[in-house]
Amino acid sequence: MKPTDPLTVLPGVGPKLADTLAGLALTTVGDLLFHLPRGYEDRTRVWPLADVQPGMRVQVIARVERADVRFGRRRSLLVNLTDGTGRIGMRLFHFSKSQMRQFEPGQWLRLFGDVRPGHRGLEMPHPEYRLAASRDAAGAEVEATLTPLYPLTSGITNPRLRGLIGRALDGCLRQLDDPLGPLPASIGNLPSLIDAIKTLHRPSPDIDLTQLAAGQHPAQQRLAFEELLAHHLSLTRLKRRLADTLRAQRIRHIDGAQAALFKALGFSPTGAQTRVIGEIAADMARTTPMMRLVQGDVGSGKTVVAAAALVQAVAAGQQGAFMAPTELLAEQHTQTLRAWLEPLRIEVVLVSGRLPKAQRDAANARLASGDPLVAVGTHALFQASTQLPKLGLVVVDEQHRFGVHQRLALLEKGHAAHPHQLIMTATPIPRTLAMQAYADLDTSVIDELPPGRTPVKTVAISQARRDEVITRIAAACADNRQAYWVNTLIEESDLLDAEAAEATAERLKKDCPNLRIGLAHGRLKPAAKQAVMAAFKAGELDVLVATTVIEVGVDVPNASLMIIENAERLGLAQLHQLRGRVGRGAIESFCVLLYQPPLGKNAQARLDTLRRTNDGFEIAEKDLQLRGPGEVLGTRQTGEVGMRVANLVNDAALIEPVQMFAAELSAAEDRLHAVLGRRWLAGAEAYARA
Ligand code: ADP
Ligand code: MG
Repeated sequence: MKPTDPLTVLPGVGPKLADTLAGLALTTVGDLLFHLPRGYEDRTRVWPLADVQPGMRVQVIARVERADVRFGRRRSLLVNLTDGTGRIGMRLFHFSKSQMRQFEPGQWLRLFGDVRPGHRGLEMPHPEYRLAASRDAAGAEVEATLTPLYPLTSGITNPRLRGLIGRALDGCLRQLDDPLGPLPASIGNLPSLIDAIKTLHRPSPDIDLTQLAAGQHPAQQRLAFEELLAHHLSLTRLKRRLADTLRAQRIRHIDGAQAALFKALGFSPTGAQTRVIGEIAADMARTTPMMRLVQGDVGSGKTVVAAAALVQAVAAGQQGAFMAPTELLAEQHTQTLRAWLEPLRIEVVLVSGRLPKAQRDAANARLASGDPLVAVGTHALFQASTQLPKLGLVVVDEQHRFGVHQRLALLEKGHAAHPHQLIMTATPIPRTLAMQAYADLDTSVIDELPPGRTPVKTVAISQARRDEVITRIAAACADNRQAYWVNTLIEESDLLDAEAAEATAERLKKDCPNLRIGLAHGRLKPAAKQAVMAAFKAGELDVLVATTVIEVGVDVPNASLMIIENAERLGLAQLHQLRGRVGRGAIESFCVLLYQPPLGKNAQARLDTLRRTNDGFEIAEKDLQLRGPGEVLGTRQTGEVGMRVANLVNDAALIEPVQMFAAELSAAEDRLHAVLGRRWLAGAEAYARA
């Protein structure tokens, strides 16, 4: 039997069972080896009946005293058993004539199952059982290793699957390909692949179960290492393949284009912005499409960096596209980019499903003209009806909502050439996670805030002390400052959200009759919403009551107070984003997290984290611990590259060794190529250098 053989080589596996197993992604015998238990049962131990108590799940060996059919509410077979130390009843509700005949008095049985209190003493309802010729014969069959519990699907039971996996282990584990061989000792004392697999399917009774349950056993670590390496290699190969096959239009650096932008903005770039803008310019000057991820904390000036790249593209005669995750954000970014780019005579065109048809057609016509300009929209920008014949650069905002596949689809959009891609994260991603999950991208980090920012002071206040908050708002506004009041809801409902915000605004108007209060939510017409936002920005409103729509993109430096209602409902990343709306000027700013007690443990941890720190990277680490990588990364981890053994949080320590291992592999290949090339390909220099 070979690991590559189909499952049907196993005795008892026909096309029907093979089909069932295919539902568990099992098609070869080797697949069975990697179908790992989700837990274990201890059937190595035989419990004396005297020690058995209700609620336990145990193995016992006992002899039949008598068996009767009982006619209670339901007909059942009760088999009374003893092992000399005590008694127990085995109760079967489903049984056949032939089964009844098995339970002659004196017959020995080995049983495993749950123990319940019965009418007269303890019972085991429907245990797994085996007949045995004697007590010793039953004892001889007791398992020597823990019993694995496998992930199942309908049509296959655990004992059946256990049997098949057992056969695969005995038949072909030794032949399993182990291309990694022994791993460097620096990673820890990890077993060989074969030993790891054997340990996980057949752990000895004294294995550290806590370690196993936590996924931290060396056997699991060995497999996690392989899995992480597999993902890493696939992303780095993807990156290399794209670089080898796709061609982009060069965007040559035009002197003065950027300077003009900062002149219009009225500030100079920070050191970090200058560095990142330079990295982007160097990428875009090549014919390999740029695939760069820009990370930076909220308010670090990512949008400005994106604008600088777009200015470069347009100055070089190409079109740039800015892709936002929602229509609303697309509208807000359009406003921002217009304010920044129109002074440079760069046209910014919004493509939105919410525009009237005539306007939408006009916008599409502008893009189709091929004139150098900036297009802003959601992923709808990349529908067939939208033509961007001179597309040279795509900026994707909020990467975590786009996965690898969507990014690849974007690449297809270019015609003769593929556009350069710049991906901006709305929230920083912890470094280890980024290294693993974004191995196909180059990364830049804006690790510096623009000068003159004062860190936001954050407090958490119970809803019961809402009056104090009102006083705070009144004081801030009397001081000519402005405030946001953000409403949150559990349900993702535009309507309920809007109603809650309206109610808050009404209450605030009653509590603070002197204040000018505006209201923004997703149900307003775009024009109405823009008018409110503009009024707030112009200082014509004191308080902006909003739903979470203001999360990204609003920029009002005079706003110094952020109230977030029901803050316990929001995730860390979102709270941090919202808080980032204040503290944008030199004035001291505050964020008030209003919560509804009692706080759950996780919610408490989130609010504490925000009170303690303003550092987006630290918050991201905490977020990862609290929520797990799937939610931090969005579709990328859950849908596209779900891990089977590895866990990016708990196995973070493996990520660097994986990268080093991969780097060493590729260095070894380069060395080989250099030596062999010189030796055998001397005449074909160009080929050898390829
Ligand atoms: P992000 O997108 O990273 O949250 P933005 O690009 O929206 O940040 O910038 C946040 C605010 O900081 C904006 O008001 C922007 O005009 C301002 N800003 C950005 N870069 C600088 C800088 N170098 N100096 C001063 N202000 C800056
Ligand atoms: Mg931004």
